[in-house]
Amino acid sequence: MPASNQPRVVIIGGGFGGIAAAINLKQHGFSNVQILESAPEIGGTWLHNTYPGAACDVPSHMYSYSFAQRRDWTRLCPTQPDILKYIQEVAAEQGLDKLVRTNARVKQCNWLDDAKHWRVVLESGEQVEADAVVIATGQLHKPIWPNVEGIESFTGHSFHSAEWDHSYDLTGKRVAVIGTGASAVQFVPEIVDRVGKLVVFQRTANWFMPRKNRSYPKPLAMAIRWIPGVQAFRRKFIYWYGESLTLMIRHPKTLGRVGALRSKQFMYSQVKDPAMRSKLIPDYTFGCKRVLFSSFFLPALQKPNVEVVTDRVERVTPTSVVSAGGVEHEVDCLIYGTGFNTNEFMFPMQVTGRDGLDLRDAWKDGPHAHLGISVPRFPSLFLMYGPNTNTSGGSILVYLEAQANYIRQAIEAVKARGSAAVEVRPEVELLSDRATQDRFAGTAWVGCDSWYRDDAGRVVANWPGYMHEYEAATESFAASDFEFIEASS
Ligand code: NAP
Repeated sequence: MPASNQPRVVIIGGGFGGIAAAINLKQHGFSNVQILESAPEIGGTWLHNTYPGAACDVPSHMYSYSFAQRRDWTRLCPTQPDILKYIQEVAAEQGLDKLVRTNARVKQCNWLDDAKHWRVVLESGEQVEADAVVIATGQLHKPIWPNVEGIESFTGHSFHSAEWDHSYDLTGKRVAVIGTGASAVQFVPEIVDRVGKLVVFQRTANWFMPRKNRSYPKPLAMAIRWIPGVQAFRRKFIYWYGESLTLMIRHPKTLGRVGALRSKQFMYSQVKDPAMRSKLIPDYTFGCKRVLFSSFFLPALQKPNVEVVTDRVERVTPTSVVSAGGVEHEVDCLIYGTGFNTNEFMFPMQVTGRDGLDLRDAWKDGPHAHLGISVPRFPSLFLMYGPNTNTSGGSILVYLEAQANYIRQAIEAVKARGSAAVEVRPEVELLSDRATQDRFAGTAWVGCDSWYRDDAGRVVANWPGYMHEYEAATESFAASDFEFIEASS
C-alpha cells in the first residue's frame, strides 16, 4: 500500500458496474481509484450497442441507480441514447471524470506474490500497480458470429448488431437477419419498412410479452415528476414484478405455466395464421431462454416483404444465405443478431493469481466465484457481473450496486487490518458454488440450451434466485469467509 494509506484500486470497465464501484468507493473516502476503459467513452454496452431501436426492456425506474433516481424519464423503458446520457451524467455529477482513463485497454492482470499487489498491463505496454482490482467488463460485450461455413466469403455488406454500420443505407436492400434474440427483436421492426426484402432466420422461437413503450401520457409524466412517492412506488412495483418473473422461472411446472399461458394468449392475438403460429410459438419451457418484450416484432415478421426461415442456416455463399435443403436466399446485406460470447467473461485478458495460477485454468471446469465476486487464489481481485450474477427477471443494476457495496467493504476490511489483500477461502467458494448450482434443479433455466449455460450445460451466467436474496447475501462482507494476506513488514 502506498504511503498515503489509500489502497490503489483499479477498476477495469466503465459501464454500469465499474461506475457503481467507483462511486461507492469515492463516497466512502477512497481517493486512489481509477477506471480503465478500453473505449473512447464510458457507457459500456450502452456505448457499443447503437442498433436502431436499441433500448432496455427493463423499466427506467429500475434500470437506474437507486442513488441517482430520475423523475423525468419520458417512457417506461429507456432508449439507448437516454441510458448513455444518464450514465454519463451520473458519472459527471459524482465527479468521476478525473478517475476515468479512456482508450486504456487492459491486456493482463498479474498478482505479484513477493510484492503482494497487482500489476495491471495495458495494451500500450504501460504498467499500473494496484492493491485491489475490480474487473467490471460485463458478460455481453464480445460479439459472436455463427459457426457457419462460408461467412467470410460473403461479398455483400455484413455487420453484427453490436457493431451496427450506420453508414450503410438499408433502403430498398435485400437483407438477411440471422438470430431472433433480444437485439434482433428491437431492430427488426425499425428496419422492416425501409428494406426491400427481409429474410429472418430464426433458429429457436421465443416467448413474448407485450411492450409498446410509447411516451408517457402527459398526466402520468407530470404525476411521476411532481407527486412525491409516485416514482418510488413505481420502482418498488417494478422490482416485485421482476421478482414475480423469477418466481415463474423457478417454478416452471406451476407458475411458469401461467406465464406461458399469458404469453401464448398475447402471441395468438398477434399471429393469426396457423402456419406462422407453428413457426413462432415456442414448445419449450417458459423462461428457459430470455422472455422477450415486444409488441412490434411479431407484426413485423408478418409484413409482405418479410420471409421467416426456420430451417437451419447451412452455409453462406458470396451472395446468399443457404438454408437446409439447399434453399438459396440472395441478399445484399447480412446482419448478425447472434449475440455475445457470454461464457468468456473478461477473457482474452490474462489474469493470474497466487503462484501464477491462470484464471483460465482455475475455471477449466467452468467459471465460478463466491457470490460471483471472489475466486480463491486471486487475492483482492473482485468481479462485477461475474459468474452466476445475471438476472432473467430483474434489473442487473440491483446486482451491480450490491457488488459495489460488498467489494468496497472488503477493501475497507483490508485497510482496517493493515493487510495486503483478502482472498476467499476455497472451501467457502466451493460450498457456495455447489449451493448455487443445486438451486437450478427443477427450474426453467435448465429446461433448454441458452447462453446462460456453458458447453457442459452448467448454468454459468445466472443467479438462481431472486434479487432480494442476492442483496441479502451481499449486504455485509463476511470477513470469516476470507483469509487476509498480511503485508510485508
Ligand atoms: P441472443 O439473445 O444470444 O440471441 C442470439 C440469436 O442468434 C438467437 O436467436 C440465436 O438462436 C441466434 N443464433 C445464434 N447462432 C445461430 C446460428 N448459427 N444460426 C441461427 N441462429 C443463430 O443475443 P442478443 O439478441 O444480442 O441478446 C443478448 C443479450 O443481451 C440478451 O439476452 C439480453 O440479456 C441482452 N439484451 C438486453 C436487451 C434489453 O432490452 N434489456 C436488449 C438487447 C440485448 P437460439 O435462440 O437458437 O440460440
